[in-house]
Amino acid sequence: MQPQNSLLSATGTTIFTVMSALAVQHGAINLGQGFPDYDGPEDVIEAAAAALKDGRNQYPPLTGVPELRQAVAAHNRRFYGLEVDPNAEVVVTSGATEAITACLMAVLNPGDECVLIEPLYDTYLPVVKMLGAVPKLVRLNPPDWALPRAELAAAFGPKTKAILFNTPMNPTGKVFTNAELAFIASLIEKHDCYAICDEVYEHLTFDGWKHIPLMTLPGMRERSLRIGSAGKTFSLTGWKVGYITCDRSLAPNVAKAHQNLTFTTPPNLQRGVAVGLMKDDAYFEGLSTRLQARRDRLAAGLAEIGFGVLETRGSYFITTDFRPLGFNGDDVAFCRTITEEAKVTAIPVTAFYASEEAPSHYARFAFCKGEAVLDEALDRLRAWVASRGGRQLTAAAG
Ligand code: PMP
Ligand code: GLN
Repeated sequence: MQPQNSLLSATGTTIFTVMSALAVQHGAINLGQGFPDYDGPEDVIEAAAAALKDGRNQYPPLTGVPELRQAVAAHNRRFYGLEVDPNAEVVVTSGATEAITACLMAVLNPGDECVLIEPLYDTYLPVVKMLGAVPKLVRLNPPDWALPRAELAAAFGPKTKAILFNTPMNPTGKVFTNAELAFIASLIEKHDCYAICDEVYEHLTFDGWKHIPLMTLPGMRERSLRIGSAGKTFSLTGWKVGYITCDRSLAPNVAKAHQNLTFTTPPNLQRGVAVGLMKDDAYFEGLSTRLQARRDRLAAGLAEIGFGVLETRGSYFITTDFRPLGFNGDDVAFCRTITEEAKVTAIPVTAFYASEEAPSHYARFAFCKGEAVLDEALDRLRAWVASRGGRQLTAAAG
């Protein structure tokens, strides 16, 4: 038999699926894959349920139902002062995952260079490579994840077509500052390229940190493709509804990419999300306030157990350094060991790095869980650490 696609054959199953399966196998509390264990807003769910029953169950328009495109435009105006034409500058997709691929497809030709920032979300690199484009990786380092400006500037060149980055950022919890975004914008202008902005955690920021879309910076309106996700904004990760906002000159290619990927997204879910995006400001404030309390609870507990807890300014995730616990293996061994022995699952941060020399002593914990679940996870980790006494914590065999 001839070999199948070599890039996919060389790509493993996503770490999120691997660790969730391991959590089920060991009866562990799953603080790995980032999904809430609580449901989204009732009115949004009711709207989607009602929408199933009123006869609009055939293919919706290619770029999304009018209600949702209008709601995306209104949301852009309300939160960021962006004026967006709902008929020409919005494309609805089946999740941000599809949106990322559609945006990359829309702008990249084989041989084009695409700048990516490590740690990076797991779909970015394989998709860039599948399109025949050349990834140029720039790395952020813990504990502060500062943008290395000279390295970023060096990653741009005459072949650069786009940069793809994520703010607020998974897994680091970093929220890019205005100064960092201005620096990125200057490179984009200088090299006449595009920005694909994965902003799925736009409403999940803490301690007064505010998400700034690159698209709002001078010169970036026409060059940015801004991606949102109903999964994150409405705690409905299984719905897989994403939305792209971009200039009318870019939207047709994005729509053609979407047409070749899925063509459309379930209409009732789109109509539910339209109701969600029109919810009052109190909803969006409450979302981050509640999540911040969960972050604080988990961060305080992990620090008390002895983890080095890095600051989280946004997203669902806390990154921890487990070296202070005296564990003598790498992050993959650590996450496997706590799943098997403590019955709590986390994600090894090396999964977000392409290169071998990635820092290998960090584990990512999701805090988008009920308080009792977070407390139980902390109790289990505390008991596990205590059961090891003063001895070195060793990696589980196998
Ligand atoms: N980008 C990032 C950074 C994410 O963490 C996720 C998580 N799901 C996605 C994209 C994908 O979003 P969706 O579920 O809407 O496809
Ligand atoms: N975004 C989620 C995370 O980082 C996972 C999404 C997925 O499983 N594909 O945990």
